[in-house]
Amino acid sequence: MSVHNRLILIKYGEISLKGANRGFFVKTLDKNIRIALKGFPGVTINHIQSRITISNVSQSDEAGVVERLAKVFGIVRIALAYETDPDMDSIQEIAAIAVGDSGANSFKVETTRADKRFPLTSPEISAQVGAYVLANAPGLVVDVRNPDFILHIELRKNAYVYYKQVECEAGLPLGTGGDGLVLLSGGIDSPVASYMIARRGMKMHGIHFHSYPYTSLQALEKAKSLAEILAVQNNGFVLYIVNLAKIQEAIAVNCNAPYFTILLRRAMYRIADMLAEQKGIGALVTGESLGQVASQTMEGMACSSAVAKKLILRPLVSFDKMDIVKIAKRIGTFETSILPYEDCCSIFTPKHPQIRPRIDRAQIEEDKIPNYLELLVAAFEEKDMAQFE
Ligand code: ATP
Ligand code: MG
Repeated sequence: MSVHNRLILIKYGEISLKGANRGFFVKTLDKNIRIALKGFPGVTINHIQSRITISNVSQSDEAGVVERLAKVFGIVRIALAYETDPDMDSIQEIAAIAVGDSGANSFKVETTRADKRFPLTSPEISAQVGAYVLANAPGLVVDVRNPDFILHIELRKNAYVYYKQVECEAGLPLGTGGDGLVLLSGGIDSPVASYMIARRGMKMHGIHFHSYPYTSLQALEKAKSLAEILAVQNNGFVLYIVNLAKIQEAIAVNCNAPYFTILLRRAMYRIADMLAEQKGIGALVTGESLGQVASQTMEGMACSSAVAKKLILRPLVSFDKMDIVKIAKRIGTFETSILPYEDCCSIFTPKHPQIRPRIDRAQIEEDKIPNYLELLVAAFEEKDMAQFE
């Protein structure tokens, strides 16, 4: 009987394309995997030629480890594999064991050889292993067109044999894309926007605006709950909390009512921009989607973000609500997002918001507010913070 180990083989597609950055990407992915698996202290993480392996996973931990890895950005797929010596006897023996628990009727073998010193070609290995498995598993047949499963053999320093694979998040390792600040409301869209940008490798931070006492403490708790959910795939999440009540009062008292909503947006963008500048964060992220509400027309978006200097990312700009909801359900934010607490956008809202606001007009409206900049800076400086693991 040859020596073999059960292990988890991690495949990380996209990062192998990144040329000179490859080392940085793999190192970051390694770090993120270690963070993701800190609840499983016994496991061992190794690197073998463009694969990462996780070994010493107890049978009772396996499902938990797989579930956790499936959420790590940058991992495309994981295979539940057997590792054995790179010789035909060992491979055949382990292939028969691996197939033994499949419960399927048909299969085919696919071989990849990263180690070209192996004396047989890939098709030769597949044919020989296939014949061996057939001889040992009565009832099983080879079907190259439509098999119930594919038995994979990878030849690297050792041989890896598997048929069970789990599709994972893909994307890029968190931390390879810099830092972003999401304007996180309690709604459906902004948590999805945060997730989507984090999935491209950007570590997210959040800013939430509330209007206590006009808005309830539950509305604020809701934003915190969303931050807590997002924290899992973001290696933690820091949420900055800013009270806009005085600013909303000032806008309501001094400015032309149809401009209220757009001026509120501009206040959010201004304060978010100040925070990003202070924390060295490069981009603002919002859940805006073209045409979804009055403030998200082309003119509305142009007018609100004109006050910010940072790069603005709107990953949902072309998404239908239905598609956003689908993602929200998948990432587990939907149920929290639909809790019925009013956020600050629903306070003082005009009956007929200006849907084609002009930047010069918005500026004129803001100039009507005495000491407006001081008000904004004061709201910014009085910010609170909540941190999630
Ligand atoms: P969401 O579902 O994210 O609340 P929405 O469809 O309700 O979005 P708006 O209320 O127009 O859209 O907000 C547009 C974007 O502005 C939000 O996606 C979010 O990024 C930001 N935003 C709105 N309200 C707040 C808030 N209270 N705190 C922080 N950001 C906010
Ligand atoms: Mg909203």
